[in-house]
Amino acid sequence: MEQIDTYPWPDNIKAAISLSFDDGRPSQLNVAIPILDEYGLKGTFYIKPGGDDWKTVYTPWREVAQNQHEIGNHTLSHICSRNFGWSGRALETISLDYIESDILEAEGRLRELIPEQTERTFCYPCYQNYVGEGLKRQSYVPIVAKHFPAARGMGEAANHPLYTDLHYLTSWTAAGWMSGDALIGFAEDAIKKDRWCIITFHDVSEVKPDTWLPGASYHGAPVAAESFRKLCKFLVENKDKIWTGTVLESAEKTIEWRKSFADQR
Ligand SMILES: [Zn+2]
Repeated sequence: MEQIDTYPWPDNIKAAISLSFDDGRPSQLNVAIPILDEYGLKGTFYIKPGGDDWKTVYTPWREVAQNQHEIGNHTLSHICSRNFGWSGRALETISLDYIESDILEAEGRLRELIPEQTERTFCYPCYQNYVGEGLKRQSYVPIVAKHFPAARGMGEAANHPLYTDLHYLTSWTAAGWMSGDALIGFAEDAIKKDRWCIITFHDVSEVKPDTWLPGASYHGAPVAAESFRKLCKFLVENKDKIWTGTVLESAEKTIEWRKSFADQR
């Protein structure tokens, strides 16, 4: 493995973190963004501008983008595996052309909604990156790679700046019961291993953890505002050890930095 002694991040800091949020939930506007702003941190928000009233529903996100947060593409229809048992279309039964047009329709709407932001990253709905099944299963990562500088999925190890696939970046899911210390643990792991860690959040809630359903472990369960605040505080206090940037900023820095490693990759 290539030995690295430089890193993509400012001041040659060895680790990075991106805070990403899926599905454009109201608690992100009402709770998460004010906390990020309080700490001067920027996040990436993956929204899916579907529905007849998309222009009205997604208007508040323009201001979020103007405030230097990233608004990412999370497709229009959020199509996932039929194994979830949801009604509607499923990844197993659509084509690569179909998913591409769904992504591009979302992209057109995002550009109309936020004309000042033309570059953004993509996020795979349900972390799934394929259409079809079995012998006919095909990855749609190459389609995403055609249209975006980077894309976020999920995975077991935080991103190695030289080796991670920029079009299927790994992330850790901030599941509902996670304490502030558990969230900080992701950042500490990235610091220890010189990695770029991405965390995926859904709702961030002011509701106290002891009022949540016991054992709620599904991805959409909220993270307590106090846990999220604790993580943000840690990131600001440790900014000489871990750089915080949006997924887009971090990907752009990685792409630029990788140019000097062109022969080794
Ligand atoms: Zn989603």
